Amino acid sequence: PLPLDVGAIRADFPILTRTVRDGKRLVYLDSGATSQKPRSVLDAERWFYENINAAPHRGAHQLAEEATGAYEEARAKIGAFIGAPEREIVFTRNTTEAINLVAYALSNAVTAKEPEFRTYAVGQGDEIVVTEMEHHADLIPWQQLCERTGATLRWLGLTDDGRLDLSNLAEVINERTKLVAVTQQSNILGTINPIGEIVARAREVGALVLVDGAQSVPHQPVDVTELGADLLVFSGHKMLGPTGVGVLWGRYEVLDKLPPFLTGGSMIEVVRMEGSTFMPPPQRFEAGVPMTAQVVGLGAAVDYLQALGMAKVEEHEKALTGYALAKLAEIPGVTVIGPADTVARGGAVSFTVEDIHPHDVGQVLDDLGIAVRVGHHCAWPVVRRYGVPATTRATFYVHTGYDDIDALADGIREAQRFFGVAPSGDSEGATS
Ligand code: PMP
Repeated sequence: PLPLDVGAIRADFPILTRTVRDGKRLVYLDSGATSQKPRSVLDAERWFYENINAAPHRGAHQLAEEATGAYEEARAKIGAFIGAPEREIVFTRNTTEAINLVAYALSNAVTAKEPEFRTYAVGQGDEIVVTEMEHHADLIPWQQLCERTGATLRWLGLTDDGRLDLSNLAEVINERTKLVAVTQQSNILGTINPIGEIVARAREVGALVLVDGAQSVPHQPVDVTELGADLLVFSGHKMLGPTGVGVLWGRYEVLDKLPPFLTGGSMIEVVRMEGSTFMPPPQRFEAGVPMTAQVVGLGAAVDYLQALGMAKVEEHEKALTGYALAKLAEIPGVTVIGPADTVARGGAVSFTVEDIHPHDVGQVLDDLGIAVRVGHHCAWPVVRRYGVPATTRATFYVHTGYDDIDALADGIREAQRFFGVAPSGDSEGATS
């Protein structure tokens, strides 16, 4: 049996009751792209709009007061979820915006008039380190930062079995390194990276560490104190929450020395025509009326995940991943890109099917009601590294059961039959 009660959980997700492609059960294996939402999250957003909708931190009326309360309560709850005080939680639109916020802050630092805002300024001769397995969201902003500032981008490569190659860690992360940006879990390989080792090296040279938690925070317990990094970013929509809300966590001492990215209302202290001063974090980084209902919805998502228990969520996905790897290994012609065991690996399983393009695999699966992702998964260098044009990717979450993975395996065999590439000797494929 699986650690989570999949039957009970599925009943909480209205979308899982619908059918697709002429009455077929929806087998949703694309939570890595975006997760489905339980009723409690949908209800929380609706409750906000129906009862207390107002712009927080403004207005002298009761609704504004209640909206502010709900917004700040959610901030505290989301902070507690990752072991952080509320003043270290900044709301952004998503992971992408959170990373851009940091990247622009580091280049805005160069010309900041406040001396303390220049602490982390990046310029010529400085280096930014990423890895070859980063999502484009954790690569392009750093490329652009380097173009703006004259800094140099360096990266850690990958091993043939889908892990970070740390053999030259001490050389890549060196005295010139200003910031290291690394994903905690690869969205395409499933690999869970040894953040501790990277943080330890970064500490030796005084570099900041930003962890991309878009695929880890939704799926395993993450505590920022244990993590040891300076900055952590993640998206609400991948952890059962609404779209339009993401999180930047930063150690307060670090956030406090960063200049703003977006400027305008809500983030200012004193405004004069000649110039203005800014609020301390987190307000300094939250210009404009925020995504209040979405933040409240994300608070409800955190409640839902905490009621299940993140350790259990992790265990659940590990069991599913082990099962999926074994099932796919039984199918001749199927090759998994990424670690072959579940030791340091989460529930993102990317694979190729010999002689069938991933888009065709995806099409056959879709006809069967199975939703997967195909393509380069916004991590183009990864597919290039492993010499494939694209992959098909299945990702798991709390409502995923063994039946979903069985459907996936049957679907792949169906695709092989359809395209006439069912390898002989695959007796199950010939008869089922
Ligand atoms: N990093 C990783 C590892 C991701 O998987 C994703 C989403 N696929 C992102 C960053 C970007 O997240 P978002 O699109 O929500 O900004």
